[in-house]
Amino acid sequence: MHVTPEVTPIPCLKDNYAYLLRCPSTGLIGVVDPSAAQPLIKVLRDKGWGLDYIFNTHHHWDHIGGNEELKKQFPSIRIFGHQSDQGRIPGQTDGVQDGQVVRFGAFDGFVIHNPGHTSGAITYVWGNAAFTGDTLFAGGCGRIFEGSPQDMYFSLHQKIGLLPPETRLYFGHEYTEKNLQFSLDVEPTNHKAQELLKEVSKLRSEGKFTTPSTISQEFATNPFMRTTELEIQKRVCELEPDADLSPVSVFRVLREYKNQF
Ligand code: ZN
Ligand code: FE
Repeated sequence: MHVTPEVTPIPCLKDNYAYLLRCPSTGLIGVVDPSAAQPLIKVLRDKGWGLDYIFNTHHHWDHIGGNEELKKQFPSIRIFGHQSDQGRIPGQTDGVQDGQVVRFGAFDGFVIHNPGHTSGAITYVWGNAAFTGDTLFAGGCGRIFEGSPQDMYFSLHQKIGLLPPETRLYFGHEYTEKNLQFSLDVEPTNHKAQELLKEVSKLRSEGKFTTPSTISQEFATNPFMRTTELEIQKRVCELEPDADLSPVSVFRVLREYKNQF
């Protein structure tokens, strides 16, 4: 019995990842965030697979760009997104909300509503695999476009952060190397981040992916998950001398600093 669908990262556009999912017991196929249709159609053709589901994490163009073309090719496809994104996710057939069960083949997964990057941003979880879109990246988090630092902090710490530590995180962009450079700027003595940056730089120089991460890796190396660390708080005091050092305030200062890093 499989615990998690088979996952294949498909690089799209400049640095996006779409993730192809396969349920081994039913043969059903899904894709998370098809940025563009062509790279997926090519892989599906090579493998001789159809496509049954699209799972969108949010409405941004670089995550939904392939929806319409894929729907033309596979007219009976179901397209999932947050219920509040109905109207801005092309072809959406299913609106889901926080905690809702999302069945994919033999897997009963669920949705986490994690607003902040956008108001309808969601994470899909099947077994020990979580698809976080632009909310939680390896070493970083998404920009706050539709929400407050408080929203994003809550989404990262009180929602996604509560998943089991071994959960694999499949994120939406290959930003890991730059994110870890930022992590070491704000927490230079983080040895795990230093080690990981070395590994990641090697992978990238060989053209390899850094996805997936894990929850435990993020708590160890991602400054946005480490707002109570003394060294990070000291850096925040340098960046904004009158900032208070509550976790949300530290998070806000880090996020603003990252925007121009
Ligand atoms: Zn986005
Ligand atoms: Fe994106």
